[in-house]
Amino acid sequence: MTREAAVLRLGHRPERDQRVTTHVGLTARALGANHMYLAADDAGVVRSIGDVVDRWGGDFSAENNVKWRRCILDWKAAGGVVAHLTMYGLNLPDVIDEVRTQDRVLVVVGAEKVPGEVYGLADYNIAVTNQPHSEIAGLAVFLDRLFEGRELEAAFPHAKIRVVPSAHGKLAEGPAEDE
Ligand code: SAM
Repeated sequence: MTREAAVLRLGHRPERDQRVTTHVGLTARALGANHMYLAADDAGVVRSIGDVVDRWGGDFSAENNVKWRRCILDWKAAGGVVAHLTMYGLNLPDVIDEVRTQDRVLVVVGAEKVPGEVYGLADYNIAVTNQPHSEIAGLAVFLDRLFEGRELEAAFPHAKIRVVPSAHGKLAEGPAEDE
């Protein structure tokens, strides 16, 4: 069973991808990953994610200015496996049982064209359907299948704000927050 998942975000363009990359990080955090490596120089994204962790708890972290090749090689050298999400890969249901047997999984997602070398370095090239869509959607479905839904019930310790689940209306404990 996978104990640790991290996300490596490739191809981030600071002038146009800030919102999507922030959402990659927030989705990773909410759905059970521990860390995001950002292969670009954008301290603002890392700061936004850090602000969310500070208010909403948990131990997720994000890191700026990562060299993607080094990141992948180091992850593998430390015994982890690399799962690159791409519509050209093997379809998720055909490989996820095998990926789940791995202790540590680095999930690679792109923005625009991903360097061809990544396909060779990855242990798994995985499609969340063989149709084009989004890195956020692909990541969310992948993590949910990896953790088999357990991540939906995870606790986020040290939270300053906590939603009180409600059938109608908006209830939270802690400082007010706009959604
Ligand atoms: N055209 C780009 C390419 O060929 O690499 C893909 C751009 S897509 C908007 C951005 C990212 O979303 C991809 O790098 C991949 O990680 C993810 N993605 C998009 N569709 C996917 C799919 N069907 N399965 C898995 N990941 C997908």
